[in-house]
Amino acid sequence: MKGSTNKKAIIIGAGVAGPILALQLKKIGFECEIFESRSEENTKEGAFLGFTPNGLNILKDFIDLDELKKDYTPGSIKFFNSKGNQIAELGTDYQKEKYGAETFQLKRASLNKSARKLATDANIKIWYNKKFIKYKETNGQVTALFADDSVATADIMIGCDGMFSEVRKQLFPEISAIRYTKLISTGGYAKLPELSKPTDSIRMTFGKRGFFAYSVSNNGEIWWFNNYCRELQPKPHEIEKILKIEIQNYLTDVHKEDNPLFSEIIKNSYDIIAYPIYDVPKLEHWYKGRVCLIGDAAHGISPHIGQGASLALEDTVVIASLLKSQDDYETTFQNFQTERQVRVEKIIKSARKVGDTKAKTNPIAAWFRDRMLGFFIRKQIQQLDWIYGWLYSDKEQNH
Ligand SMILES: Cc1cc2nc3c(=O)[nH]c(=O)nc-3n(C[C@H](O)[C@H](O)[C@H](O)COP(=O)(O)OP(=O)(O)OC[C@H]3O[C@@H](n4cnc5c(N)ncnc54)[C@H](O)[C@@H]3O)c2cc1C
Repeated sequence: MKGSTNKKAIIIGAGVAGPILALQLKKIGFECEIFESRSEENTKEGAFLGFTPNGLNILKDFIDLDELKKDYTPGSIKFFNSKGNQIAELGTDYQKEKYGAETFQLKRASLNKSARKLATDANIKIWYNKKFIKYKETNGQVTALFADDSVATADIMIGCDGMFSEVRKQLFPEISAIRYTKLISTGGYAKLPELSKPTDSIRMTFGKRGFFAYSVSNNGEIWWFNNYCRELQPKPHEIEKILKIEIQNYLTDVHKEDNPLFSEIIKNSYDIIAYPIYDVPKLEHWYKGRVCLIGDAAHGISPHIGQGASLALEDTVVIASLLKSQDDYETTFQNFQTERQVRVEKIIKSARKVGDTKAKTNPIAAWFRDRMLGFFIRKQIQQLDWIYGWLYSDKEQNH
């Protein structure tokens, strides 16, 4: 395999990992095609993500971070009590020097758009409306079949198709379904004349009955987030029609005794984000034959400590570097899993711990239920080195 030409890779999914992986595989001699189930217009999902240094250090090898910062909010957090007094601060300015990049929040759609453009500019074909449904392996090749009856054939296939991965289901039909955690990650976007000045941090208030967090982007748009506990798993068609209104009404009520600004933001939101949170069962193997899973497809993680996208990006770096130098695909994929699994599982465990504290509905426990405090304040900032400093010290030494 080393030094050979005409190697081909099929990549399923043009989310966070797909295009960045394709760019790296192209560099090491793979001809790549990406297949995305959604239409190009429909890939502008509403969520925004906190990107920490371990993810940013990968992104900046491909994308100018200043370009991404055309629409962003800072990642530092100021904590307030219900009277509006600041009680704690989690700064991020130390990160630049320590890890080479500083956490910030950006819209998933902006990242995806930039990454897809880079791939297209590098002559990597992205096919939209191509829903992967199954595959077969014959004569040293893997063939993917799509819902429109089209097929694609290559030497390897990498499933970057996220939490609900169809590639995972096809590889391991015996694996149980993902489990709804009764928690919905929610948030939204709003504009208010009285709140149009960019904030220097995310402002998180522990209100009387729950927290409320918001920041104002460099473009004067309010980005807010919260959690919503819901016993019943919403059906996909309920999310747009029922769930978002339900969330808006519920949160307006929860915050009616807090700063009136919060209800104002919630009521005036023109885009509400509602992502039910799932637990993905642990896979014994992330690969079979010429097919390998990466990112959420291999090891879906709840969003409680903001690491899913960064882990997916880390995977792309590791799998690409192994594919560069090894001779047998299945062994390469096995080595990939071995190299990644311990770190990934440790981070998933941390995220679960934070999630468990959030699921409590008791108003006192709600104080602890915020997105990050439970994780960050319990641990010392130095203890985050193993997450944030990934690869950074190696990179520094090589320069
Ligand atoms: C509410 C929420 C908040 C989050 N916050 C953070 C955060 O702050 N920080 C962080 O690092 N992470 C966060 N995450 C997690 C992060 O979004 C994911 O971990 C990350 O996107 C995983 O990247 P991926 O490439 O594996 O999958 P995705 O980015 O989900 O991409 C999968 C792609 O595959 C496509 N696809 C699916 N099925 C098929 C099919 N059958 N055929 C073809 N294509 C298919 C999908 O349309 C999608 O484009 C959050 C997630 C959620 C839900």
